Amino acid sequence: MDLKSLIRDIPDFPKPGILFRDITTLLRDPEGLRYTIDFFTQKCIDSGLQADYVVGMESRGFIFGPPLAYKLGAGFIPVRKPGKLPAAVYSIEYELEYGTDCLEMHQDALHPDSRVLIVDDLIATGGTAKATAKLVQKIGCQLVGFGFIIELRELQGRKHLPDVPIISLIEY
Ligand code: 5GP
Repeated sequence: MDLKSLIRDIPDFPKPGILFRDITTLLRDPEGLRYTIDFFTQKCIDSGLQADYVVGMESRGFIFGPPLAYKLGAGFIPVRKPGKLPAAVYSIEYELEYGTDCLEMHQDALHPDSRVLIVDDLIATGGTAKATAKLVQKIGCQLVGFGFIIELRELQGRKHLPDVPIISLIEY
C-alpha cells in the first residue's frame, strides 16, 4: 500500500516555512490505519525488536504506540509534557530550535530489566526521541530500538540517537 499517498502536506504549519506532514488523513482511512499498524508490527518483529514495553511520547506517540504494543504483546508507557502525570516522575529537559522543552515519565513505570521500544509518529531533528531515550536509560533499562511512522531523512535525526535499530515506514 502507498502510505505516502495518505499523508497530507500542510505548508506553513505550525509556522511559516514549515511543511507539516499530517497523519490524520492516514488515521481516518480504515485500510491505511490497519496496514500501518500491521506493517509497523512486522518490521519490529523482522528487526528483532522484542520489547516488554512500548514508550510513546505525547501526543502522536499515544496514537501509534498502544496498538503496536497490543500487537507485540507489550505494555504501553506514556511520556508526557510537564505536570500531566499524577505520580512521582523523572523529567528531562531538551533543546528546541528556540528555547527548551521538557518530558516526564512515571518513576515506577519501568524497572531496570525492562526491554523498551520508543515509538513516535515522526522523527525530525531527533531531539524528542533522544530526550526520551535519556529518560529510559536513566532507569538503566535496555533500550531495544526506535520506531517511527515517518522519518525526515535530510534532518538526520537518527544520528543523534543511541546505537540501536531504528525503523521507519515512510521516508521523505
Ligand atoms: P524532533 O524532536 O525529531 O525534531 O521532532 C519530532 C516531534 O515533533 C515528534 O513528536 C512529532 O510528532 C513532531 N513533529 C515535528 N514535525 C512534524 C510533522 O511534520 N508532522 C507530524 N505529524 N509531527 C511532527
